[in-house]
Amino acid sequence: MIYLDNNATTAIDPQVLDAMLPYLKEQYGNPSSAYSFGKKVARAIDHSREQVAALLHCEPVEIVFTSCGTESDNSAIQSALLIDRDRKHVVTSKVEHSAIMKQAETLARRGYEITWLDVDENGLPDLSALEQAIRPDTAVVSLMWANNETGILFPIQEIAAICQRKQTIFHTDAVQAVGKIPIDLRSGAIQFLSLSGHKLHAPKGVGVLYVNRRTRFNPFLIGGSQEGKRRGGTENTASIIGLGKAAELAVEHLSEETTRVKNLRDCFEDEVLSRISGVQINGDREHRLPNTASIAIEGADSEALLMLLDQKGVCCSAGSACTAGSLEPSHVLRAMGFSTERARASLRFSFGRFNTEEEVSAAVGILVAAVEKVRTANRGVLAA
Ligand code: PLP
Repeated sequence: MIYLDNNATTAIDPQVLDAMLPYLKEQYGNPSSAYSFGKKVARAIDHSREQVAALLHCEPVEIVFTSCGTESDNSAIQSALLIDRDRKHVVTSKVEHSAIMKQAETLARRGYEITWLDVDENGLPDLSALEQAIRPDTAVVSLMWANNETGILFPIQEIAAICQRKQTIFHTDAVQAVGKIPIDLRSGAIQFLSLSGHKLHAPKGVGVLYVNRRTRFNPFLIGGSQEGKRRGGTENTASIIGLGKAAELAVEHLSEETTRVKNLRDCFEDEVLSRISGVQINGDREHRLPNTASIAIEGADSEALLMLLDQKGVCCSAGSACTAGSLEPSHVLRAMGFSTERARASLRFSFGRFNTEEEVSAAVGILVAAVEKVRTANRGVLAA
């Protein structure tokens, strides 16, 4: 198998698994218990908090462990809406992940007004449109740091500065950014940030919501006093320990992401562009994650390509894994102004720490053959 779908999920790093195992076996104490068997686990969770804080350049107390990126996204928005109930306006973009989009659609049905920011053909928002969109009754602005389909990076620091000037709460879905690019929250301009363990070689089912220590927070899951009374529910101890270790490894691997992994992606794109006619890169080539290639292959249906690639053991995707199976073309590519045809002819390859040059060149060869096959079949259909 050649796994080139690291934006969908990543393999658990063996060091992460090793860190987790004691908490699935002998260290099963409840971190809230009063005796030392439990307190030892609570200390291990606090160590994880420090490891994640080091990756984000924030304070450990600003880290709230959750069950996934989706929970973090929902918690941030719901908390922001409760701060001032008279504010009934939310600003987001047309290219967000469903964890934000569907939530905003639900809010619209409940009487909130949503401003959906457009993006240009590079996948970038117009910052003056953002500035104009923010009103005195805006409860929260939620914009993603890195797009899961195209890898396009929004200028988050500039966006945060605009929200700060306008005194509006800013949340960023950084699920795809954390571990792939440097994140530094020291300026304090971002109030909420979401991340998810399984995108950075930790297990699925654990995430983090960063809550700026000066920001009022209302818990989404109401129950026990866990996470400093910010998230009820007995902690998913082993996964939290795993996420801490994964964050520590991400700090160590960050320069590799921006060099070796980027080189793999760039070599892949260069090879594909030179060996297959009618290929275009979707979005801005500068402002994007180092690991993501979103390509449109003229005259090739992505579903057919995915099947052929799967038969040869290559894992990649057409759009995001969360919307897979839907017949709709990618909302991200459509928002960038691309035709339905181009959106349906697009594939996402996302590289990671465990990929090799050999895998990349083998994958290119398999893709070249698959495109040829699909195009020949299309010509046959047209001729018939
Ligand atoms: N936000 C983005 C940008 C994502 O890519 C994903 C997952 O693909 C999520 C949120 C949801 O994360 P999780 O799967 O942990 O709920």
